[in-house]
Amino acid sequence: MWRNFPAFYNQSGEPLDAENSDEKRSTSKSQTKWECCFTVSKFHLKTVKCIILLLRLRLHLIFSCWMFVGLKTILHTIPIVNILLLLSGMYPFPLAIITSILLSFCFAEYDSKISADWLSKVYGRVIRPLPSDSPHQHLKSSYRLPYQGLDIAHYKILVTPYFEGVKTNTFDGQIDEAKTNPIDEIFDFWTINFDDSLPVNDEVKIEISYNGILHNNNFGFYKSYYKEDGKIKWLATTQFEPTHARKAFPCFDEPQYKSRFTISVRRPKHFKPSLSNMKMNGPGIPDGDFTRETFHTTPLMSTYLIAFIISELEPTNISSEHEKNHFAIWARPGAKNQGNYAFNVSKAAIKHLGEYFDLPFSSMDPNLKIDHVSMPDFNAGAMENWGLVIYREPYLMYEEGESSARNKQFTAGIMVHESAHFWFGDLVTCRWWSETWLNEGFAEYFNYHITDKVDSMNLTYQFNVNKLQSVLYEDQRFAELPLTNPNINSPEDIKRMFSPITYDKGSSIIKMMCDFIGPETFRLGVGRYLKEMKYKSSLPEDLFRNLQAQADIDRSLEAYNVSVADFMISWTEQDGFPLISVFVDRKSGIVKIAQKRFLRQKHELWYVPITWSSKSNLNFDNVKPKFIMKEAKHTLEEKIASDDWIVLNIQQSGYYRINYDNDTWWLLSKALSGEDRTKIHPHNRAQIVNDVFQLTKENILSYKMAYNILKFLEFEDDYAPWAAAFDGFKRMRSLTYSNPKLCKVIKKNVLKLIEPLVKKVGFEEQENENHLQKLFRMEILNFACLFQHEGCYKQAKILFENYKKDPSRKIHKNAREFAYCYGIKQGNEEDFELLWKKYLSDNLESEKFTILISLGCSNVKWKLEKLLLEVLSVESRVRLHNRQKVLDAILIGDYSHVQIVYEFIFDNVFITREALGNEFTPMIINVIRKMNLKQLENMESMLNKNIHLTYWEMMSANVSIYLRRDYIKLQNIRLRDENFESKQIIVSIIKINITLKQPKLTG
Ligand SMILES: [Zn+2]
Repeated sequence: MWRNFPAFYNQSGEPLDAENSDEKRSTSKSQTKWECCFTVSKFHLKTVKCIILLLRLRLHLIFSCWMFVGLKTILHTIPIVNILLLLSGMYPFPLAIITSILLSFCFAEYDSKISADWLSKVYGRVIRPLPSDSPHQHLKSSYRLPYQGLDIAHYKILVTPYFEGVKTNTFDGQIDEAKTNPIDEIFDFWTINFDDSLPVNDEVKIEISYNGILHNNNFGFYKSYYKEDGKIKWLATTQFEPTHARKAFPCFDEPQYKSRFTISVRRPKHFKPSLSNMKMNGPGIPDGDFTRETFHTTPLMSTYLIAFIISELEPTNISSEHEKNHFAIWARPGAKNQGNYAFNVSKAAIKHLGEYFDLPFSSMDPNLKIDHVSMPDFNAGAMENWGLVIYREPYLMYEEGESSARNKQFTAGIMVHESAHFWFGDLVTCRWWSETWLNEGFAEYFNYHITDKVDSMNLTYQFNVNKLQSVLYEDQRFAELPLTNPNINSPEDIKRMFSPITYDKGSSIIKMMCDFIGPETFRLGVGRYLKEMKYKSSLPEDLFRNLQAQADIDRSLEAYNVSVADFMISWTEQDGFPLISVFVDRKSGIVKIAQKRFLRQKHELWYVPITWSSKSNLNFDNVKPKFIMKEAKHTLEEKIASDDWIVLNIQQSGYYRINYDNDTWWLLSKALSGEDRTKIHPHNRAQIVNDVFQLTKENILSYKMAYNILKFLEFEDDYAPWAAAFDGFKRMRSLTYSNPKLCKVIKKNVLKLIEPLVKKVGFEEQENENHLQKLFRMEILNFACLFQHEGCYKQAKILFENYKKDPSRKIHKNAREFAYCYGIKQGNEEDFELLWKKYLSDNLESEKFTILISLGCSNVKWKLEKLLLEVLSVESRVRLHNRQKVLDAILIGDYSHVQIVYEFIFDNVFITREALGNEFTPMIINVIRKMNLKQLENMESMLNKNIHLTYWEMMSANVSIYLRRDYIKLQNIRLRDENFESKQIIVSIIKINITLKQPKLTG
């Protein structure tokens, strides 16, 4: 599965959690009795949450201590204890009331609306799964199906969806698989009882007829539509990963239960032939108003990879009969001209991946084929069903001359990611969701390391800034989500495994392992793993064993005395990562390094691959570690000259941050601003930028030092350091939203730094520019406009005005993002209407999405309110998977929008709640996270008057206001402590800038 992680940033500098919770917004609940969702130990979970709530509120420890003594008995004593505390003067009245409410809430309502999602949105991912010593531990085993001795030989499935008549929006199913028990109400298990014990090695056949609902929430077996000549065309499709196959047919719905599947479908006669994982087995057979179609039996595979589509979609491109593999791209008939690029990528991806693994796709099963299907409604970005990959339309369809460089990269990268899953996920599958990284980490790794063979896009070069650096932000929070996580015991736990940790940390650790054992040993090792584990489910040790075997043959680890497993386990079984501190004794030249968990006082150690380069001993090419640091402290064997700078972690191959002593930072800042800058590898310049932003945010590095180091950006023109800077400055801007003075200072200096770059790249594309240059310009202009760069604003206005005068003169495809957003920002309601009409009439989904997000940039209040109403209406013309994104886009479109969204929500509480469902409360929290102190005060008085919010919503809002206010105050105190009032920052920056030489751009 490919997921588009958020590109926006919230007020506290973290990306907005755009995790789509559409799943919860289903309008019709499944009536199917076989559906089995599991819940584990809600009681315990609430206890943990309650502790966190209380600690975060900084209340007296006594309350948290209560959690560990007889929960039920204290339930009745809470009010009494609180009254006693109140009378004793230990607490002011409001705190006593809050604690009473919180405690009674947590204990009395086990099924209350405090969800892990809510908490993770407020506090980051803070929920620890069930600890091994929990009294509820026995419940854990109840969640998983018994593994031993059960061999699921074969499923024969027949489904009939109904798009009209009395059975509209339902489907009938039949499965050859008894006496049944009612659903277990605690675990939603459906148990089948037999009269007698089953003899060992006996084969049991179960047949079940059932009916179910065709959902409209983009999960399970669900319904979607598109329009053709103004008429609605219905279709039915599937999305089963991770736990939704059971919504379509009863099954042992865990990845390890591999089986063979024979799928049959009864489709309406006038529909086009259906699609499933395998080739069709013979022609369709007329069956009343239906045509019955049966597909070849699958190889051994997991339930979540099954797929079927009943529709009138057509192939845009199809391979010829004589080709070894059968390829096709499928789309709605109106998008038939948009499949060429995907078709070419598809073929090249399969070829290069097969060659890399030395295991061709054609060897998997003769009846497997490769269909890539564009779907109008799709929750995930794409899904790797074996032989039938499904994509959200804008991620697959590409139109030459219309789709941007970014869209092209999306299409190629996602297709390679999904194609890599045919090997990592489909052929060899993670045994349980605890090891999801074995699927997703590899798919994302190959997305970045094979795509360049398919189409030259410099994706390998983009890996560090797009993946490694972005996930370091995620992983440094108190997430407590290790890559290999044994505590995955509920659907909620499983959902959390599809996070940037799994995808981005997974791929980063895989890349680090590749650099450690060497690229060829890595390639042969993963090939061995795939061949040994094919058609099976695997554990990390299966991977490590095969890599070790290859490393032994190649003798690639002889120098280290470290096994692959020891090295990898230190990274996969611990969450977080180390901060490596570097101390250089300037007299002796001795370099000492120390490792410590970043942002946590815990005694964890990692197997850290150490590489370095210094001014006198340049070595930025070799990423093979000089040694593996296992201990907390180490002294490098080589000394450096007294005035040498040193850079650790060549090309940021290792997954960690670095902090240098002050003298070394000063030497580095001098080197970066002088001629030595280009001697330092661009990935290391990017690493320094990324580390500096984060070390400063966490008060490890002073603002003054940070400014002094980052000033080199004025001379910088390479993609990698600037991409790190874009991200850092956006997060910083987000952090200082509530401090207009500081915002102004940051803006002024950002503009100074970016000006030479804007001048150099210009606004117009030159002939023969490569993909990365085009993409870089897009990002530069988006960034420059975000900080109100005068030239950028002017150019956006010109482009937009020209388009307005004559819409047939389209804006260049790669200039649309900034021209739409900042054109409309400087425009009026007429301009808004122009874009909205284009959104409604355009046939290219990626263009529609660009427009939709750009509409959030407008400053015409009533138009934004109209857009909010449109997004939230029952008949919305915005697809379900885009609705949350539009709200986010409006919220971050301009600081003034915080007030607009906030007022809209409170004027329209009922429709907003209805449309957003479980996302309503997180939306309120998101708004509060962007407020300044005055807005928080207004909101508080509003809350006191507003009677439309539920008790729970009020509580969430109040807690968020408390935390937001606390955060702003802490930031202000820190700025004051550093003597960095805004005036002083200006003085300091001016001083720095005066000492700089004229920009000397290279390349
Ligand atoms: Zn994936």
